[in-house]
Amino acid sequence: MTKDQIKQEIIRYGNMLIEKGLCTGTGGNISVRMPENNGFMITPSGILYSEIVPDDIVTMDFEGNIIEGSRTPSIERNMHRAIFNARPDVNAIVHTHQNFASAIAATRQDFPPILDAFVAVFGGGLKCAKYGSIGTEELARNVVEGLGNRNGVLLANHGVLCTGKDLAMAFGNCEFLEASAITYCFANIIGKPVVLDHEIVEKEAADLARRYGQR
Ligand SMILES: [Zn+2]
Repeated sequence: MTKDQIKQEIIRYGNMLIEKGLCTGTGGNISVRMPENNGFMITPSGILYSEIVPDDIVTMDFEGNIIEGSRTPSIERNMHRAIFNARPDVNAIVHTHQNFASAIAATRQDFPPILDAFVAVFGGGLKCAKYGSIGTEELARNVVEGLGNRNGVLLANHGVLCTGKDLAMAFGNCEFLEASAITYCFANIIGKPVVLDHEIVEKEAADLARRYGQR
């Protein structure tokens, strides 16, 4: 993809954050690694997704300098940068305040593996990262630690973040995490959800990744 196409994709998915109810207002943020790996593009701070134009998308390097763009980049730029530095396999990051997963994050509990499909998508349960104030290096460190080698993490008292090999995957992981969080919250109302055994999770994570989908 060209730089312009990446900017258009970021804007398109930003609008989808609102349409799909994963964020409201200017909440959440999106970033995509540059094809040549010489930095990343990120949404600007405090502009409604419906009003963001390609020139508002900011390009940054992995040291945190702005390479291109006149807007102030997302307040969570440290968090995005830290993840790109820690995870070479991640090419896109979506951070949201989606309601049900954020409800779990508000309790500072991890999201246990209670659904087979969840194990297939995320490879097991997801951690709730330790609390850090919005936009701080501390939050960035905590989120990298909580994410580990998974493609999703809860942010204590804040929201969630999902990663992927591309933007479609990172966004899809956020949607799937929210659907799963709804199930988990209702399961807690009906009774006590049964957490899958560690051995089953290990086996399914390897097995389903191999058997599921098209070859
Ligand atoms: Zn946020």
